[in-house]
Amino acid sequence: IYILAIESSCDDTAAAVLKDNVVLSNVVARQHIHEEYGGVVPELASRAHQQNIVPVVDVALKKAGITRDQLSAVAFTQGPGLMGSLLVGTSFAKSLAMALQIPLIAVNHMHAHILAHFIKEEGFAMPEFPFLALTISGGHTQIVKVNSFFDLEIIGETTDDAVGEAFDKSAKILGLPYPGGPLIDQLAKEGNPKRFPFTRPKVDGLDFSFSGLKTQILYFIQKNQAANPNFIEENKADICASIQHIIIEILMEKLKLAVSTTGINQIAIGGGVSANSGIRQTLVDAQSKYGWKTFIPKFEYTTDNAAMIGIVGYHRYLEERFTATDVVAKARIEF
Ligand code: ATP
Ligand code: FE
Repeated sequence: IYILAIESSCDDTAAAVLKDNVVLSNVVARQHIHEEYGGVVPELASRAHQQNIVPVVDVALKKAGITRDQLSAVAFTQGPGLMGSLLVGTSFAKSLAMALQIPLIAVNHMHAHILAHFIKEEGFAMPEFPFLALTISGGHTQIVKVNSFFDLEIIGETTDDAVGEAFDKSAKILGLPYPGGPLIDQLAKEGNPKRFPFTRPKVDGLDFSFSGLKTQILYFIQKNQAANPNFIEENKADICASIQHIIIEILMEKLKLAVSTTGINQIAIGGGVSANSGIRQTLVDAQSKYGWKTFIPKFEYTTDNAAMIGIVGYHRYLEERFTATDVVAKARIEF
């Protein structure tokens, strides 16, 4: 089975080709224009998708070494995401499926961040059902109980900002460019995580909150900068390491609670923030420390990509869960 997958939910235009659960090509056209604005500008994102989608799909097919008429189905991101961005991928996928007279498959982007673990890759094991997925990305922070490919329950989520926003907004306070998450990760490697202790928010149950942390960091920086205008410059690595440290503590506190309440100790992380080296290391250490079985995705399947859309497409194809061609893009969507 050959699946062509298209992802255009935010600012990256991506296409991939899968042969069953193996990725033959995985192409991403990044939009750097947003860096100048300190965040994604929806109108610019949509326009860039329109320019990129045809060449990106062509490159994906070429790299996979197949032609359009060999495709079994077209999968695409229906949501969640930016409406103008989603529309480009949705209309392209619909037209292509209709022209080729093959099935169309709508995919939930957050479902894809989780099922990315089922892409067959040497050296990467697949979780067994049921498992817990911690999805941490630019727009979401969720703990999901995954009972099967298509039975997923959100058991905890953020009540305000997502983890990715906590990283990006903290970076902005430090004067770092957008998206700041990867830069904090980089700088944190040289810093002392215990130097500036931030406090954890108190949130009941398995839910998260990150907006208080952002304010805490803002006041902390303002106070110290007032006393010493070079405070950020002189302590950048320690500040980044301390921010990353508290974020990891918040995530781990809830994961431990999720494991004890569900009795499930298989944990898979996913989403853009799962690229973070500190989070990855903490999850690796949790295997010996807590006896968990942890699953960390291959780096290229963490931030937005189309291969993850393709693997959901493949599993939907096997169960003939196809989508009618009058389907519409959805900015918000449930599992
Ligand atoms: P969603 O998946 O919720 O719709 P999105 O698709 O915009 O949101 P992703 O591409 O999944 O988001 O993730 C992007 C986020 O990941 C950004 O906030 C970015 O800063 C963060 N991120 C990427 N790499 C790292 C890293 N190494 N450390 C911390 N954060 C990171
Ligand atoms: Fe994403």
